[in-house]
Amino acid sequence: MIEKIRNFAIIAHIDHGKSTLADRFLEITKTIPESKIKPQHLDMLSLEREKGITIKMQPVSMKFNDYVLNLIDTPGHSDFSYEVSRALKCVEGAILLVDVTQGIQAQTVYNLKIAQELNLKIIPAINKVDLDISNIDIISQDLKNLLNVSEDEIHLISGKTGYGVEKLIEDIIKKIPAPQILSDTPKALIFDSHFDTYKGIIAHIRVFGGEFKKDKIYYLKSKNYKFKSIEVGIFKPELKIVESLKAGEIGYIATGIKEPDVLKIGDTIVENFNDLAIPGYKEPISVIFTNIFPKEEISYEKFKDSLFKLKLNDPSLNIEPINSPVFGRGYLVGFLGLLHLEIFQERLKREFGTEVVLTLPSVKYEVVLKNKQTLIIQNISELPDFSNILEIREPWSYVEIFVHFKYLESVFNLIKQKRGVILNHKTMTSFVLIEAEMPLEELITGFYDDLKSITSGYSSINWEFLNFRKADLVKLDILIAEEVNPALSRLVFKNQAYYVGKKIVTELKKLLPREQFPVKLQAAIGGKIIARETIPALKADVAGWLYGGDITRKMKLWQKQKKGKKKLEKLGKGKVNVPNDVLIKILQIK
Ligand code: GDP
Ligand code: MG
Repeated sequence: MIEKIRNFAIIAHIDHGKSTLADRFLEITKTIPESKIKPQHLDMLSLEREKGITIKMQPVSMKFNDYVLNLIDTPGHSDFSYEVSRALKCVEGAILLVDVTQGIQAQTVYNLKIAQELNLKIIPAINKVDLDISNIDIISQDLKNLLNVSEDEIHLISGKTGYGVEKLIEDIIKKIPAPQILSDTPKALIFDSHFDTYKGIIAHIRVFGGEFKKDKIYYLKSKNYKFKSIEVGIFKPELKIVESLKAGEIGYIATGIKEPDVLKIGDTIVENFNDLAIPGYKEPISVIFTNIFPKEEISYEKFKDSLFKLKLNDPSLNIEPINSPVFGRGYLVGFLGLLHLEIFQERLKREFGTEVVLTLPSVKYEVVLKNKQTLIIQNISELPDFSNILEIREPWSYVEIFVHFKYLESVFNLIKQKRGVILNHKTMTSFVLIEAEMPLEELITGFYDDLKSITSGYSSINWEFLNFRKADLVKLDILIAEEVNPALSRLVFKNQAYYVGKKIVTELKKLLPREQFPVKLQAAIGGKIIARETIPALKADVAGWLYGGDITRKMKLWQKQKKGKKKLEKLGKGKVNVPNDVLIKILQIK
């Protein structure tokens, strides 16, 4: 019965205790026997368990009295905010959870904004009150301002001890409305998916109308792709087959689809071909890119296979085959952010045993040619000749930073140092919200780390892509033994070109093995050399063993060696091999 269903999510900043609170729900509703609950039970990936963060959301269906409570646990990091927004679209209410020791953070407010736009019923709760209660008043004040609620509507709970959790559940039932029906015919929103070798892609869905069953024909609206359902069920949290999924319910549908690119989060499933999709669907937009190649001991086939299998579970990955003169066959991969990249690399290793080599992550650039044509460049090798280029534009982002008041000044300085522009700052009781614009490149290369270190970790950040703006970039080439090594070319800011070029040749001199001949190292812009170094030749003292005695014989040998070197120098022109580990070190230079 639809009146007895409550669909809700927990929104919070990372580490504020979502998964732990979910554990208490599982316990109180006896969904899982107490003895079987592991901490953060819903974090099912081994990587999640180790890092203590939620990467994939894990829905669960629980029973309390005669109510069905469907909880969607959501990831807290800004890289995954699209997933959060689709998950929130599937529920009628959300618990806004705030860690009493941390206060309100960037992700809390960002997700709250999404929830409010969707008109969700928000129930605020201050968590971890077993730890410290000295901040309760300040945080309550902030919550009252943000949500327009009175003090007695704010729950004080501990996900760890269970204090206040049962009362919270009662409030969920009382305040969050029953699901709405949007359609008479079968219609469901996909908020996540995973892959099963036998049943194909399993779509996680919220049903908005009609009834879904097995052995029926349905359509994925964004591509009008037809499939036959193999099974439907609910999450306990493991999959449990049911007869049918009805309007208002949250569960899954096994699609049998095995192609990686067909099913996307945010898409709508319908039975009637002509029914409209639920609005708001977005293609995931990659913001940073890197080239990846299999490590030497891994075959290309295995590498490719694991990449495609991972993509089935993570449709926001963007992959495209490339061929590099240096590393051979590989893929250009686009990510939602740096954490996404890091998780991708770890999952490849753990779930498939595939280790990869990656190049320095970078953003994409917009290149306007003199003939007014516009290109999007993800790889420096695609860059047209500079004489044809009118301007290069780089991506900018809108950034929200939350900091404690005492760090305001130093954060302002950091933003300026990273070419950012401060738009505004708002003071709340326990924090300041800074709004700024910043080149994405600066944001992804080091800004996070610098921010964390100057604020001793008491800051958080959230951002989104804004637009492309003109940037004074030039192409820096590196010549080794007078030949451009294409793998080492990069775009740099004109005023940093000398500094970066010098750093690269100096580093190359240290890292490259010596040859029989001197090796020239040069950094150049448009053919003009801006920095140089030379690696001296190996000095093999061929005459060393002739000590004493015959000086003329020694001279002869030296002469011979000199000639040989000249020859080698000629032969060796451009023939210097850069080992992969050196290449990778050079690519990391900023
Ligand atoms: P999530 O990232 O929001 O899912 O947060 P987790 O549930 O993984 O919790 C983050 C950390 O806070 C873990 O180390 C938990 O043990 C701890 N934690 C969560 N809730 C509480 C609580 O109520 N009291 C205390 N003392 N620790 C908590
Ligand atoms: Mg979690």
